[in-house]
Amino acid sequence: MKVEVITTGTELLLGEILNTNFTWLAQELNLRGFDVLYQTTVGDNPARMKEVLDIAAGRADIVITSGGLGPTRGDITKELVAEYCGVDMYMNLEVWNHIHDLLSRRNICIASNNEKQALVPSGAIVLHNAVGTAPGLVLEHGSTTFIMLPGPPFELQHVCEQELFPYFEQRFPHLGIIKSHTLKVRGIGESNLAEMLDDIIVHQSNPTIALYARHGEILVRLTAKASSAEEADALIAAMQERVEKIIGPYVYGYDGDTLPEVLGKELLTRKQTIAFAESCTGGLASSLMTDVPGSSEYVKGSVISYTNEVKNLVINVSKTTLSKKGAVSEEAALEMAEGVRNVIGSDMAVSITGLAGPGGGTRRKPVGLVYIAVADENGASCRKYNFTGTRTQIKQRAALTALGLALD
Ligand code: ATP
Ligand code: MG
Repeated sequence: MKVEVITTGTELLLGEILNTNFTWLAQELNLRGFDVLYQTTVGDNPARMKEVLDIAAGRADIVITSGGLGPTRGDITKELVAEYCGVDMYMNLEVWNHIHDLLSRRNICIASNNEKQALVPSGAIVLHNAVGTAPGLVLEHGSTTFIMLPGPPFELQHVCEQELFPYFEQRFPHLGIIKSHTLKVRGIGESNLAEMLDDIIVHQSNPTIALYARHGEILVRLTAKASSAEEADALIAAMQERVEKIIGPYVYGYDGDTLPEVLGKELLTRKQTIAFAESCTGGLASSLMTDVPGSSEYVKGSVISYTNEVKNLVINVSKTTLSKKGAVSEEAALEMAEGVRNVIGSDMAVSITGLAGPGGGTRRKPVGLVYIAVADENGASCRKYNFTGTRTQIKQRAALTALGLALD
């Protein structure tokens, strides 16, 4: 089933908004066994819109549009698709009543241009939009199925999940299913990981296996093709077992799991609290941890010990260490972790000190050099890293690596 997605809106072409409707639709459609072969973005311009509709109808079985179903003059998708298919529009009472209800519940006066939104092309199936005024529409024309979806991402996703995907399941029951499962890995480089998984990668067929490096972590994505969801799950589970036999200790989570969440859960299980002493990361590790709801259960507090003065006065890093070894040193990192643990009275503590650049590096201490120490009741240990990238990337990598070390 060949699909073309047409996202409409001049703001997309001006680069003002990110085309998240396409990425979301592409993932969902692929998962359901559709072949998304083309994607086009066009502004709110009738002539150019007609042109892309014509091209899409010539090369795809299903043409999905997003946007342009609103009440204003600039919203022209429905009108142009109806015109392309040579059908009239009629006032759909059910849609009209829904718009009426929705707007009066929101205390909005109904405007005359809302009537436009209740117009439906003759012969179209209406995909009810419970969270907005513009419904989705399915219109058959020859061998092409046009599917029109509202532009606001929340509405588009809602209409797809509640109406369009169930419709697809009935209409195309023969389509295979593609399912993906992602293993999240930390504490090992991409090339080492690829080497460990070389045998599986070389002989892969179904499921396939792919490695992606992203924001300081590596994703191992397993993708299975099958005729049912159960069969796909079984294929993935078998492959996951093989993969985890080899790289198990480096896998910290799956799919939507994040490192701060996983560490948070681990701290809850261990019944431990944590504190951070952050220098070059300026509070980023603490910020990531406290993004997780409920983190006050285990994040006790942090000190942004950015200057030597604060390192010494607040968390008791000795002046001798700071002058002899420097703030970016193993000794300073160890004293920061132990110092902040004592001052805050947490079970464990993590310190981060390094050079985020771009200036300030030397041959002995280059930009990207970061020491991370972890202290608990058994003492403290430190690891040295040489991160690469921009200042922001180095901060991000250092913070995430610190959370990973706390997990060990
Ligand atoms: P409305 O009734 O809100 O006018 P509509 O169906 O006419 O809905 P558009 O006017 O095209 O849709 O888009 C409405 C809003 O939805 C845009 O301002 C934008 O914020 C968002 N949006 C539209 N298309 C996309 C897209 N492809 N990706 C992400 N967001 C989008
Ligand atoms: Mg609009």
